[in-house]
Amino acid sequence: MIIVLSSGATKENLEHVTRMLEERGYGVHLSEGVERTIVGAVGVPNDPGQKGPIMEQFEALSYVEKVIAITKPYKLVNKPFHPEPTVIDVRGVRIGDPTFLVMMAGPCTVETQEQLMQSARAVKAAGAHILRGGAFKPSTSPYSFHGHGEPALKMLAEAREELDMPIITEVLDVRDVEMVCGYADILQIGTRNATNFPLLTEVGKTQTPVMLKRGMSATIEEWLQAAEYILAQGNKNVMLCERGIRTFETYTRNTFDINAIPAVKELSHLPIIADPSHATGKASLVNAVSRAAVAAGADGLIIEVHPNPEKALKDGAQSLLPEAFDILMHDIKPIADAVGRTM
Ligand code: PEP
Ligand code: MN
Repeated sequence: MIIVLSSGATKENLEHVTRMLEERGYGVHLSEGVERTIVGAVGVPNDPGQKGPIMEQFEALSYVEKVIAITKPYKLVNKPFHPEPTVIDVRGVRIGDPTFLVMMAGPCTVETQEQLMQSARAVKAAGAHILRGGAFKPSTSPYSFHGHGEPALKMLAEAREELDMPIITEVLDVRDVEMVCGYADILQIGTRNATNFPLLTEVGKTQTPVMLKRGMSATIEEWLQAAEYILAQGNKNVMLCERGIRTFETYTRNTFDINAIPAVKELSHLPIIADPSHATGKASLVNAVSRAAVAAGADGLIIEVHPNPEKALKDGAQSLLPEAFDILMHDIKPIADAVGRTM
């Protein structure tokens, strides 16, 4: 349930409500907006979330404006909990700010320092804000390349140093969370780990921003519940990423669910990033799907770029050449302008 305090509520009023909730076994989550303080109460098992005696006890308080039952299985990521959009500041890059479009780009996998730097310099020159690169690669096949691990993180950190760009990289394993946090500005949770609840819990214990990809066959509600795992541990710096879902279609690698972008905006306050590279699996489709995602309201894009896609160790078919990424940046500019976002 959500308790909205009236605009004149005092600090003592808030303390009183907090105490009342704690006495009744609820966890208390505050969202202090410009106009109103919203107190979120979660965590009572089998709380019917319906109008009942407990809600009425809070409604009886003079400084409570209203009490709203939350029947959805996700609470902290639910929009009424936090009506203003969440903005995550990553070294000055404001992800989720409705007036800004964040561009993340780089290779699927860090192969060599030279390959990384070529991609990084190219995407930076084209105007990207954040560098992506995989050090730990999830693979469907146990025989494919799994990434260089920590040495690749060191290469990413060098690229950050040289180009002054924050870095995003995937963490695959609970045992690596602390180590990867030592390098990454944003932790990526990939589609194959999107319901790895111990991993979600572990990244939730950090304060490092997390980009949670949608499970390849997850409904929007399941995906939001996965995000809830992270927020429930105290890490509110979560953004979502639509990367395509499994359908009967085989021409493309996945099917980009454009619906997910406005749907997430309607249901949640978390930023939503689009990944047209994994959604399409085809470099030739990335530009058009990027434009569609920006038009639909995405807060940013994450795009795979490789200096030599035919030699890429992973995801070459969907990786853009630096020149194509430069064209994409020019092509999305008028769309970003039209929806009121600078980039
Ligand atoms: C990736 O970003 O390279 C990746 C493996 O993505 P996904 O988890 O969406 O397949
Ligand atoms: Mn990839």
